Amino acid sequence: MKWLELSFNTNNKYMIKVTFPDGSVREYSKGSTAYQIAESISPRLANDILAASINDEIIEINRPITADCKIKLHKWDDEQAKHAFWHTSAHLLAEALQELYPGIQFGIGPAIESGFYYDVMPAQGVVIKESDLPTIEKKMAELVTRKENVVRQEISKADALKMFADKGETFKCELINDLEDGTITTYTQGNFTDLCRGPHLINTADIKAIKLISVAGAYWRGDEKRPQMTRIYGISFPKKKMLDEYLVLMEEAKKRDHRKIGKELELFAFSDAVGKGLPLWLPKGTALRLRLEEFLKRIQKRFGYQQVMTPHIGQKELWVTSGHYAKYGKDSFQPIHTPEEGEEYLLKPMNCPHHCEIYKVSPHSYKDLPLRYAEFGTVYRYEQSGELHGLTRVRSFTQDDAHIFCRPDQLKEEFMKVMDIIFIIFKALNFDNFEAQISLRDPNNKEKYIGSDEVWEKAESAIIEACEYKGLKAKVELGEAAFYGPKLDFMVKDAIGRRWQLGTIQVDYNLPERFNLEYTGADNLKHRPVMIHRAPFGSMERFVAVLIEHTGGKFPLWLTPDQAVILPISEKFNDYAQKVANELSQYDIRAIVDDRNEKIGRKIRDNELKRIPYLLIVGENEMNNNIVSVRKQGEGVVGEQTPKEFADMVNDIIKSMMSDF
Ligand SMILES: [Zn+2]
Ligand SMILES: [Zn+2]
Repeated sequence: MKWLELSFNTNNKYMIKVTFPDGSVREYSKGSTAYQIAESISPRLANDILAASINDEIIEINRPITADCKIKLHKWDDEQAKHAFWHTSAHLLAEALQELYPGIQFGIGPAIESGFYYDVMPAQGVVIKESDLPTIEKKMAELVTRKENVVRQEISKADALKMFADKGETFKCELINDLEDGTITTYTQGNFTDLCRGPHLINTADIKAIKLISVAGAYWRGDEKRPQMTRIYGISFPKKKMLDEYLVLMEEAKKRDHRKIGKELELFAFSDAVGKGLPLWLPKGTALRLRLEEFLKRIQKRFGYQQVMTPHIGQKELWVTSGHYAKYGKDSFQPIHTPEEGEEYLLKPMNCPHHCEIYKVSPHSYKDLPLRYAEFGTVYRYEQSGELHGLTRVRSFTQDDAHIFCRPDQLKEEFMKVMDIIFIIFKALNFDNFEAQISLRDPNNKEKYIGSDEVWEKAESAIIEACEYKGLKAKVELGEAAFYGPKLDFMVKDAIGRRWQLGTIQVDYNLPERFNLEYTGADNLKHRPVMIHRAPFGSMERFVAVLIEHTGGKFPLWLTPDQAVILPISEKFNDYAQKVANELSQYDIRAIVDDRNEKIGRKIRDNELKRIPYLLIVGENEMNNNIVSVRKQGEGVVGEQTPKEFADMVNDIIKSMMSDF
């Protein structure tokens, strides 16, 4: 409600000045709503907007605006609109549950990245199962036909407590107790009232298509000592067609799930005996990962990086010095104690302090810089077991890490070089669709950040200029920088349009200060280097997961685990198949033999499922002529070739793919 408190700086106390995103200003009578403002532009716009931002606070489109402000009108395509839409849908779900399950208690019901959920506790002895979801959906759809207004009300803490206590809503009362008086609002639609900050749609009629997705267990406030609630997930849309498209996308996403494909292709596994969130790389996955590492090492070498290696643990003091222990220590793996000396070690949560110590091993002159230390460094971070997910949320992962120590005047050039590396990787792996975000400091809150105005301005303009120079379209976010420096993050869009955060480049003024890093300048005085943290893949685990989901497991030919499978049409030709495999391996082709006692048709079908790019069929004719019959996955017959001809063809394709790198 910040905007309510703004003083009226307009001269006319009956009019307000409204500034639109394009900078244009219009006057409206005081108390106009976002809906009315939209209507003044076009009735169609008024029909399409779902929420509005007033000076960056998101509100309902029927709230009176009483002071000069900046306005943004949000249609479905804006995150803010989706958020209000799904938040209202969560209320609608609760309203339906209240009718269907008397005595049900409500926890929290937020909008999430895709859709919404509500945590509820049905009356004693009542269970809500997946099979109940269609009935609940039907009830929600029925409620929508009532076209109920969603009515906001400000309420005192005492009244709120009384209202929810009367309904026996103990969870809501607990939430209210944590709120400050004067900040509490409720929203009511039909017979259902929820404690909520908003914003919402102004009427439930807009919710035209609803799908309840799943039921899960969730502890109240994420605390396993508190009661177990039932969490119902759902999603909703303003049009039925959008829901249909979403469901098709979900089906496709399920097929591409890296956990499923990782298992089918025997790339990685998890073992309860080893521990949750600790990935085990199987031989084929390891080989694939090593190819990625070799690829990056080769590029880095060309860009003047030096490989280093550091241990998986380090003295606790190292992270006390870096400041990370104070910030994250409590929520991390706890220190390891030596049995005799009383020393404390931490599993390394990041590689940076080790690399700072490498920098300090010898004195440096300005002529030595930049120094670029690279390490595929495995780090360990505690995640709650409920948060773990395949290779994307793990407790141990390997960063394709490097730290660049440079002079302030080298920052821009170093930044551009890192961007070049990231572009090479995206190109080699067919991520054609990516965007970047520049995170800068909050100009109104400068004291939050370490480092002088001068160094910040220099670094921020270095990043912006580097992006401009490289023609990279980047969104600029103020206030998103870390306290120690600005950064550039890359998001890729995968083959089915999902966004994934991958590489990052981060400027750091903090660690050089904390670790007292120095170089001797041309003036013979001591200076502080600037540090850049960068990881083009992010982590090997996350990158491989994204790559699997992007390609559906059909990796580029240079990377894929098996490039060819040899299929003897009967056992009689197993020896010849093996001979071909041996010959191909001499030409660096990765080929396996399927010598199972199965019909050839079956073998072809099975191996196409394994996403192996080439199938080589061998029988009487092939053996007698020392050739193979080549089929390309998904495309059919290529023709007859000698093993050498086939190998040359594959190697030529790879060479042309990699010629730029
Ligand atoms: Zn709400
Ligand atoms: Zn780092």
